[in-house]
Amino acid sequence: MMFYYIGYSSNEKIRYNASSGGIGTTIIKYLLESGRYGSSMTFVFNERECMYEPKLIYNFSEYNNCGSIYQEIDNVQFIKEHLKDIRNGIVVTCMPCQVNVIRNILNKNNIKNFIISLCCSGQTTIQGTWFYYKLLDVKKTDVKLIQYRGKGWPSGIQITMKNGDVITKDNYTYPWTLMHKSLLYRPKRCLYCTFKTNPNSDVSLADPWLKEYIENDKIGNSVIICNSEGQNVLRNMIKTGWVILKEVEEDVYVKSQVGTIEIKAQSNRYKSFNKIVEKMGADGSMYKKIVTSSVFLLKLHLKLLKKLHKIV
Ligand SMILES: Cc1cc2nc3c(=O)[nH]c(=O)nc-3n(C[C@H](O)[C@H](O)[C@H](O)COP(=O)(O)OP(=O)(O)OC[C@H]3O[C@@H](n4cnc5c(N)ncnc54)[C@H](O)[C@@H]3O)c2cc1C
Ligand code: SF4
Repeated sequence: MMFYYIGYSSNEKIRYNASSGGIGTTIIKYLLESGRYGSSMTFVFNERECMYEPKLIYNFSEYNNCGSIYQEIDNVQFIKEHLKDIRNGIVVTCMPCQVNVIRNILNKNNIKNFIISLCCSGQTTIQGTWFYYKLLDVKKTDVKLIQYRGKGWPSGIQITMKNGDVITKDNYTYPWTLMHKSLLYRPKRCLYCTFKTNPNSDVSLADPWLKEYIENDKIGNSVIICNSEGQNVLRNMIKTGWVILKEVEEDVYVKSQVGTIEIKAQSNRYKSFNKIVEKMGADGSMYKKIVTSSVFLLKLHLKLLKKLHKIV
């Protein structure tokens, strides 16, 4: 049985800096500081490689509250490589498609685990972010840090340059939308994905894309779907004042994710379309090289995608 909540962290700083209501960050803090788990993970920006990398942590002081990372990260490989370093269990954050594999690996190795997954409409390869810099006329080597979300809700992309300049763009606006809708920077598995959430995670988190929140919320709330283990933890957190949550019906989650749920439900119907897109966006594809050489050609590509979607 699944349970549904909506709400936010009581810690204002965490709530403001996180993606939505700061629930993911607050669960990690609670589970580490209460001693229930000894390890968790965070993500740090590697300026030289110009990308985020996962890092194992044992204390919340090592945690980087940077919100959602719209960059493909191999969290499964990271867990595999760090099995020996995990102490007294681990709180994992990952995408829905990574939950089952990570859970199996940790269970097989008798490592206690609590899994937080993020509702997901699709991930983007790191090349997608680098191409986004190109569309902004920004040199990747001049970038000191990028944050995709955080600092209010729904906020958006914040790029800090090495010369101190900061470029900000509202969530899901041009030119990110141009790169994202092209589907040329989607990991292959995302094209065929049917995961709306993953019921095997203890907690799934989402943005509240609902009229009243879109109109009135500037700081952040999270929609939460949890199993009974997740609910146990959340109930204790509510009781001890870590989070402010109200229990809601499943319908609230469904309404807040209606677009993503529809697209994923139709994924099997569009297999032929997705196969074509996969070829178009493959590494080294001449088609991709040509259409990403100018904004004009990329916009033509979007028109072609629209037509293909109708006929294939
Ligand atoms: C690629 C992607 C697509 C998403 N699509 C949707 C969507 O369509 N609809 C929707 O409602 N929500 C979506 N989300 C989830 C949403 O952006 C928020 O993550 C969610 O609302 C939780 O917010 P929070 O403030 O409670 O969590 P936070 O307090 O911000 O905690 C989130 C935790 O997840 C970790 N994390 C962030 N990115 C990654 C990553 N790539 N891999 C592993 N861990 C990560 C953070 O380090 C942090 O610990 C998406 C997230 C991602 C990364
Ligand atoms: S869209 Fe699906 S396959 Fe892609 S990252 Fe999200 S859950 Fe995983």
